[in-house]
Amino acid sequence: MFGKYLKKGSMALFVAASAFGMTYARDFVLVLDPGHGGKDYGAIGKITNEKSINLRVAQLVGEKIEDLYDDVEIVYTRDDDSFVSLKDRATIANEAGGDLFISIHVNSVDKKNRNRSIIQGASVYTLGLHKSADNLEVAKRENAVMAMEDDYTSSYEGFNPDSSESYIIFELSQNQHLEQSVRLAGAIQDQLVRYANRVDKGVRQAGFWVLWSTSMPSVLIELDFICNPEQEKYLASENGKQELADAIVRAFAKYKSSKANLPLDVKASDPLTLDYKKSAKDESSISKEAESAVNTDVEIYKIQFLTSSKELSAAGKEFKGLSNTSFYKDNGLYKYTVGNFNEIQSAKKLLAEVQQKFPSAFIIKMKNGKRIK
Ligand SMILES: [Zn+2]
Repeated sequence: MFGKYLKKGSMALFVAASAFGMTYARDFVLVLDPGHGGKDYGAIGKITNEKSINLRVAQLVGEKIEDLYDDVEIVYTRDDDSFVSLKDRATIANEAGGDLFISIHVNSVDKKNRNRSIIQGASVYTLGLHKSADNLEVAKRENAVMAMEDDYTSSYEGFNPDSSESYIIFELSQNQHLEQSVRLAGAIQDQLVRYANRVDKGVRQAGFWVLWSTSMPSVLIELDFICNPEQEKYLASENGKQELADAIVRAFAKYKSSKANLPLDVKASDPLTLDYKKSAKDESSISKEAESAVNTDVEIYKIQFLTSSKELSAAGKEFKGLSNTSFYKDNGLYKYTVGNFNEIQSAKKLLAEVQQKFPSAFIIKMKNGKRIK
């Protein structure tokens, strides 16, 4: 199992180092755990399902990090649509000697919940005792996969995913990696909110068996709610998955670069405040570059290509590489444009180009920063 999940190069190095009795300076091992798989679909939506979203996002994260880092090994607990038990996921992570474990999931609430179609937002969990019934429900749902195994009561030493009493073990257990886990969770939450524009449901704690059984800093991400049709559309889209993966990669980069500066005297038992407070805004992920339309008496032509309810980052994926974009606000919406022309003929030329990326783009006429007929 060990060899199967590691790249050949590092195995060869491992063997060579062991043969000479050297201490092997190991690469950083990142374990990516796409939740569910095979007969276990996870949360099911109208157009897609959790297991396939989790897998695709995890693969994108893995590919992007492999491109960026020579010293990071990516280990997947599954890299296809197969069923892997929670126990096997933990075994894969522990045997690979993981330095970090990221479990990727999609949230949902049950059919009785009246907010089912409007609830939205991302949250990142670390292991701990739930502080709210909602958090416990999420952990119960994610742990429920155990019951799909025949002999789960013996495999999981009597742990019953559906019994609240079982969750006491997470309170009593020591969690050596909590500080690092919270640090990573905060970084991911931050990027999901600011880079991928998810509603902020905060960093939380609950008793996830898979986080408890992995002996490394570990987090579990709930990307958004599949039961909300609008969010499901985003989760189902390739663009959405790319954006979510990018957010996770950005957070990983921050975590990894700051890891060297971790205080050494953090005690595992230190109480931690998990009300994650946003750090100062960082320059790269916040869009102040997009300029609003220049005020002028002159009538100008622009190509409008995108409308958003939120201000978008000028370097964001949404723009598909278009640069020098600007926006104007109309009825509470941000309407994004490109180009500034005195002549409609010139605008038409650019329109043809823009329509290759945004087929429904059209020309507008503006004066004094406002659209005119
Ligand atoms: Zn899940």
